[in-house]
Order: sequence, then structure tokens, then C-alpha cells
Amino acid sequence: MQCQLERYNFSTGSEKESPVTTSTFNRIPVQDEVLILGGGVAGCAASIALARKGRRVTLIEREPTPRHKVCGEFLSGEALEDLHALGIDVASLGAVPIDYVRLAAAGRAAEAPLPFPAASLTRKALDTALVAEAIDAGVRVERGRSVQALGRTASGLWQATLNDGVIFAASTAFLATGKHDLRGHARPEDPQRWVAFKMYFRLAPAQAAELGRASELMLYPGGYGGIQPVEGSIANLCCVVQQRDLARVGHRWEGLLAKMQQNCPHLAMRLAGAEPLLAKPISVTHIPYGYIRPTTENGLYCIGDQAAVIPSFTGDGISIALHTARCAVAACLTGEPAPLFQAKLRSALLAQMRLAEFAADGLNNSFARAVLPFCLRVWPGVMRVTAKLTRVAQNAAVAPVQLPSGI
Ligand SMILES: Cc1cc2nc3c(=O)[nH]c(=O)nc-3n(C[C@H](O)[C@H](O)[C@H](O)COP(=O)(O)OP(=O)(O)OC[C@H]3O[C@@H](n4cnc5c(N)ncnc54)[C@H](O)[C@@H]3O)c2cc1C
Repeated sequence: MQCQLERYNFSTGSEKESPVTTSTFNRIPVQDEVLILGGGVAGCAASIALARKGRRVTLIEREPTPRHKVCGEFLSGEALEDLHALGIDVASLGAVPIDYVRLAAAGRAAEAPLPFPAASLTRKALDTALVAEAIDAGVRVERGRSVQALGRTASGLWQATLNDGVIFAASTAFLATGKHDLRGHARPEDPQRWVAFKMYFRLAPAQAAELGRASELMLYPGGYGGIQPVEGSIANLCCVVQQRDLARVGHRWEGLLAKMQQNCPHLAMRLAGAEPLLAKPISVTHIPYGYIRPTTENGLYCIGDQAAVIPSFTGDGISIALHTARCAVAACLTGEPAPLFQAKLRSALLAQMRLAEFAADGLNNSFARAVLPFCLRVWPGVMRVTAKLTRVAQNAAVAPVQLPSGI
């Protein structure tokens, strides 16, 4: 089943609602200690950590096998540390080390070295490795089954009703459905109505060599995009645009791509002679950038994009997913009530989130687009400072680790 957010209709610009069946609380539930809803980065990370602490965990993931997700696939230093601690060796999965960030706008480009180790890896490879690690850790993984309703019994158990009518219950649940909201637990509307796309390209050899080990951020009116190498000698182009700007190009990917290249000659140069590798781009809508969940109910820990949604240009969403999973597991194991955990998480994330939002607004400003590459050229430290300030600080729970070789 295609998810609600990845069903943007290119010809009409409309989104379809997922049909949600009514819950069937009269059936006998399958009971476990912890229930994790969603088997992406946050859900898998939490399930691995809990299972390793001896908890009996069931994880429910709607996709039968990992698949491409809309994501720039940039792994920041913090994400690499957390993945390493979970036993994921990104280098052995083919991750490409990323050493530079290059900013291109208004016909100018400038680059700066990244102030932390970073890498890129396709989500398909990362999610596959995380699910395998969860199974290895003893997590009961239910794949190809989606949660349709999440409710609480009078005795305080969390009950998830799946699409086949089966009910799973536990006293503790982790909400980790990423960009997809469950009815009754939805995040607010996305007032700017962002639409995000991802497409893989095989770049012309000279362009692939010039891209090198850099993550390139490109600014254009109405949004921004990033291009970077991923494993398999291909490049990921991931971009966001507001729906009103997409409407101006007839809600068509070809029109959007042409417009982005017209507004950003650097992108046109990169894509000259490139071969698209997917029949059509994958897309998502409803991205409430800047959202931080203010509260939750007892026994329900919200993690990943269900906890906070940082502007994509920071390349820090995966890191936040891992960070929130780790903190929520620690809270759950020490018996910290979920509402208290969620409130503390919110205040810990607030400053970085607001700064990232402020920077994102700046990227969308025509004056900033004109002067940013120039600023970066005369003061490369600006990128270093921005990168540091918009990164979510890791707490001391994770000791510094040796990064995998080659990264
Ligand atoms: C345009 C864009 C670019 C980005 N680029 C980057 C980047 O370069 N680097 C970075 O670090 N972050 C990036 N991010 C952010 C990053 O993708 C997310 O923050 C991260 O994936 C969140 O992890 P998660 O576990 O919360 O969600 P996900 O990894 O999306 O996992 C959620 C899982 O829940 C499952 N699910 C959903 N609904 C149900 C249901 N009802 N029942 C069962 N299962 C369900 C889904 O199938 C999915 O597998 C980007 C985001 C966007 C929009």
C-alpha cells in the first residue's frame, strides 16, 4: 500500500486521504512489554536498545521490505556515532564519506570543509541494516502490516489495531511513524505546504568527479535542494518546494526540475548529461518544519519525526531520530513518565530548532540567496558556525566512539 504522504498526484496537485478502518477492540490482543509503531530509523533504534536491555518488544512496520524514502541521505557526525553504538557499520554498507559542503545560488558557488565527520548512505541500505539488527537483537518484527488505530484501554494498556484487524497491546508504546500521522495523534498542519522530492541520477563522469565527496546545497526561489553522492556511484537529488511554486509549473516534476536549473545554473551544470535512475521521483507532502511535540500521554513516547521536524537543509533529521529514540529508551527504562520526557525533550531541542527555522527562512530570501555564496567565500567559517548551531547537541549518554574506517 502506498502511504498517504507519498501519493502526491502530479497531474492534479492533490493528495488522497488514507482510508482508516474503525478499531476492533473486542478481539483478543497479542500482548507484549513494549510496542513500537513504525520501523524506520527511530523505531528500529529504540527497539534494538530496548531488546538489548532484555525487554520483549514488538515492532510494527507497514512496508514488507525497506524501500526508497524521501531523504537527502546525509549522515551527520552525531548520527554516525549513534549508528555505530547500535552496531551499524555504515562503511561496510558502502557509505560515502562527505568532507565538504558547497553552497550554490544565483550563479555563484562556494565551498567549506565540514566541521565534523559525515557520510551518505541510501535509506534503503540503512533501513535494511537497522531492521536486520533489530531482528538479531530479538525484536519481534511484524512487517507489511500497518497500524490503523492507536487507543488506550480502561486499564491503561496501549492497543494498536492493524489493517488486518489484529490487535497488539502493551503498557508502553513508542510512536515512530515518521512523516505519517496516526489519527488521534496527528501533528499540526504544515502551513507552508511543502512538497519534497527525491530522484537518483547517474551523473556524467566529469560532473561526478567535480561533485566529489561534497554535499551541495542549492538555493532557488520557493525552496532549496541538495545533491550528493551515495553508494553505487550515483547521486541523490533531494529538494523541497512550496506547493504554490509547484502549481506554477503545473504540478509537474519535469517543470520543477527545469525551473530549478534555470534559477540555479550550478544544478544545470551538475545534471548536464545525467541519467535519471527512477521512473519518477518519490515525493512527500505535509512536512511541519519546526514542529516539536509539546506533550503526550502516559506510556506513549513519541520519537523521530513524530517528536520533532527540523528543516531538511540541516541534514540532521536522522540524527534527531536516533537521539530521541535513545533518550526515550533511557526515560522508559528509568520509569520517567512519558509526558515528562516529552516536555524535557522539547525544551532541549527548542533553541536549535528555532535557529534552524530562522536559517531556513534566510535561505528563502532573495537577498540572502544573492550574498550567501559570497559570504561563504570570504568567510568559510560561516558554514562551520551555522552547521554547529543548527545541530542538536548530543547528551553524554553516548561516549565518543572511533568512527568506522574510511569515514
Ligand atoms: C526533503 C527531506 C530531506 C531530508 N534529508 C535528510 C538528510 O539528508 N539527513 C538527515 O539526517 N535527515 C534528512 N531528512 C529527515 C529524515 O528523513 C527524517 O527526519 C527521519 O527519517 C525520521 O526518522 P523516523 O524514524 O522518524 O521516520 P522514518 O524513517 O520515515 O520511519 C517511519 C516508519 O514508519 C512506518 N509507518 C508509517 N506509518 C505507519 C503505520 N501506520 N503503521 C506501521 N508503520 C508505519 C513507515 O513505513 C516508516 O518506515 C530529510 C527529510 C526531508 C523531508
